[in-house]
Amino acid sequence: MAENIVHLVLARVAGAPEGVKGISLFVVPKFLVGADGSPGVRNDVHCVSIEHKLGIKASPTAVLQFGDNDGAVGFLVGEENRGLEYMFIMMNAARYAVGLQGIAVAERAYQLAAAYAKERVQGRPVDGSLPGAGPIIHHPDVKRMLLTMRAMTEGCRALALAAAAEYDHAHAHPDAAQRKRSQAAYEFLVPLVKGFSTEMSLEVASLGVQVHGGMGFIEETGAAQYLRDAKILSIYEGTTAIQANDLVGRKTARDGGAVARSFAAQIEATEDALRSSGSAAALAMARRLGEGRQALLDVVAFVVERFRAEPNAVFAGSVPYLLLAGNLAAGWQLARALLVAERKLAAGEDAAFMRAKIAVARFYAEHVLTRVPGLRHSVVDGAAAVTGLPAEMF
Ligand SMILES: Cc1cc2nc3c(=O)[nH]c(=O)nc-3n(C[C@H](O)[C@H](O)[C@H](O)COP(=O)(O)OP(=O)(O)OC[C@H]3O[C@@H](n4cnc5c(N)ncnc54)[C@H](O)[C@@H]3O)c2cc1C
Repeated sequence: MAENIVHLVLARVAGAPEGVKGISLFVVPKFLVGADGSPGVRNDVHCVSIEHKLGIKASPTAVLQFGDNDGAVGFLVGEENRGLEYMFIMMNAARYAVGLQGIAVAERAYQLAAAYAKERVQGRPVDGSLPGAGPIIHHPDVKRMLLTMRAMTEGCRALALAAAAEYDHAHAHPDAAQRKRSQAAYEFLVPLVKGFSTEMSLEVASLGVQVHGGMGFIEETGAAQYLRDAKILSIYEGTTAIQANDLVGRKTARDGGAVARSFAAQIEATEDALRSSGSAAALAMARRLGEGRQALLDVVAFVVERFRAEPNAVFAGSVPYLLLAGNLAAGWQLARALLVAERKLAAGEDAAFMRAKIAVARFYAEHVLTRVPGLRHSVVDGAAAVTGLPAEMF
């Protein structure tokens, strides 16, 4: 399909130091290009099989064999032994991009489920609003599922955009101090965009199958494909636990929780604005954000205080901490959106769109943000329950 294929490969040169400090980066082409640019000799790198996978069937994950005959030729990229550092340039971009994949799959799953729920006729509405059976979207639980899907997807999308804005500021803001703050904020948010959005996409894709009922199990609808495709997102480019380790160690313990607490302070300012608005939706959001912010502060204090002395206890709660922080950060973005939507609604702009934004944000506050205090309890009070069972008892 392509004239040549270029593989970026991590490998060791002879005599390289042990471990990750001895890894270099190479370009290994399928064809060794001649001096005049013509595709030349076949290199000794061969695809020996294509993996059979749970999902993402259009992506050809392959087993490559290097140097089985005379030895594959690779060209060093940059300096020897700095391969892992170079790889992380790509990896950091990829982590953000995989978070976006999660949001994209979730959005598609939502659209499919919403369309189906308007068509599928089954059961009489509990309030008797229809004389006989009606479309399933009239059942409160189906609405709850669709709203969960929509609110989580919108929250994660807003979070990803907020992170992207920090990235832009980190690179292009005229004020050097702001560039530094934005870089730190972006680095804190990346494991949340990757870890939380991908875990969220699994829940959303699973709800998509649920909304379809038995038809969700039937390939014809396409709902199951999103669930299968979403599963890899919480695994590649670093599993959710690896994102959580990054959040706990490099992004929280290392600066004594400073960046995490600066987010809490910004969330508190949003709570004040919500209370000034005073609408039922804004007050509900302020209350749940406040509980979530306190939960974040408790968890950050726990991580910072115990990190050195009790690493097992801290890492037992790393994924719940990531889910807590991601959930709260996404909810905070929806709170900001709620305030903008209220202003625009009052100005008579696009009323239906603004009302939907407000309703979705309120749903997130009451049904998704409410999970945050439970996650806090798992981190702060639940460590002994994890560490208590020795490995040999499994
Ligand atoms: C379809 C597909 C495509 C891929 N594409 C690429 C690619 O293009 N390039 C590439 O380089 N790689 C690729 N990978 C590899 C992928 O990045 C890894 O599979 C992934 O990072 C997980 O690593 P692992 O398989 O070694 O799992 P392991 O590291 O063995 O993890 C197994 C389990 O243990 C947990 N675990 C491991 N270490 C820790 C820890 N320190 N703390 C807490 N929990 C831990 C993990 O979270 C996981 O639940 C691909 C994988 C798949 C399935």
